[in-house]
Amino acid sequence: MSNTENQGFGTRAVHAGVTPDPTTGAIMTPIFQTSTYVQAAPGQHKGYEYARTQNPTRDALQASLAALEGGKYGICYSSGLAAMDAVIKLLQSGDEVLCSHDLYGGSYRLLVRVYGPMGIQSRYIDMTDLDVVRKSIRPETKMIWLETPTNPTLQITDIKAICDIAREHGIPVCVDNTFASPYLQNPLALGATIVHHSITKYIAGHSDVIMGGLVTSDDALAERLKFLQNASGAVPGPQDCFLTLRGIKTLHIRMDRACENAMKLAHFLDQHPKVGKVMYPGLSHHPQHALAGRQMRNYGAMISFDLNADNIDAAMTVLSGTHLFSLAESLGGVESLIGHPASMTHASIPREQRLASGLTDSLIRLSVGIESYEDLEADIASALDKV
Ligand SMILES: *Cc1c(COP(=O)(O)O)cnc(C)c1O
Repeated sequence: MSNTENQGFGTRAVHAGVTPDPTTGAIMTPIFQTSTYVQAAPGQHKGYEYARTQNPTRDALQASLAALEGGKYGICYSSGLAAMDAVIKLLQSGDEVLCSHDLYGGSYRLLVRVYGPMGIQSRYIDMTDLDVVRKSIRPETKMIWLETPTNPTLQITDIKAICDIAREHGIPVCVDNTFASPYLQNPLALGATIVHHSITKYIAGHSDVIMGGLVTSDDALAERLKFLQNASGAVPGPQDCFLTLRGIKTLHIRMDRACENAMKLAHFLDQHPKVGKVMYPGLSHHPQHALAGRQMRNYGAMISFDLNADNIDAAMTVLSGTHLFSLAESLGGVESLIGHPASMTHASIPREQRLASGLTDSLIRLSVGIESYEDLEADIASALDKV
């Protein structure tokens, strides 16, 4: 990447990767909806041969994504899990990935049910405890995969400390930065080797795209990941790249508003008599509040809380009592969503194990959007009144 390093985030969000179309001057990168490119003579082309391999709309997005994370290379895939799949394909049979124990469910499934039988093992540890991380590294550990903040308990892991430990052992660290977005947290600057995003969430930001992306500054790794993008073929379509480029232009503004709404709502919930524990890194009683303040630019827009009446029925009353907060999986869009991890995203985890990690029966997860705050608070308040 060239001259974007010293620019502010908002400037990069609006401009990085996007240049006027050379044939027309169109200020927006066109949707190059084509599968192939005509050659003047065999092998004589303009850098584009076949659209699995290269597409100009995708190129613009990849440059933009790299600039947002402060990395050299952005590589996009057809989903967040396809991006993770490319990273795990860097490993060999016999290698092991060390992971945060409360990994996104789909990431866990990919590792355990797809790569486990192929001989790539994964082990799940408490990444918030650095001693546990140090003791868990074995000769076959060839990658560390971590998420912070985690889902749904919003634990914060010290990215720099883990990268320092990993570097002593020559192990690459991949950080799933989906929950924070590149606006709030930049793992490469803290020592990570690869940043992973489910672009589906905050980066695209409008609940209309499924996409994943990786950013790295390592030349050899980037070459291998681009090779895998073409060789395995999980590429995003040009229309989705266009929508994502459009979404990125307002990422900083959306995040500012969503974080502001989430902070207010977390305080409201924290004082509500029917609410039990509120998990939000911006609250001073969050166990890693200080770390979040150092590592992130703001505390994010995901909140989890449980109810004093800790049972599924009480949770169901709240979940079916909201109107603005829509009951749905996913997160990171402009509209607010509400979900019940115990019966939705985390239903596959045995109850005992769920409870041990703080995921109670009445735990409710909010993805706070950018609506007017007063309306969001009123919506949650009226749903809580029904309990
Ligand atoms: C959604 C999500 C993924 C998977 O991304 P898809 O785009 O749905 O494939 C991975 N990690 C986290 C933290 C997510 O929230």
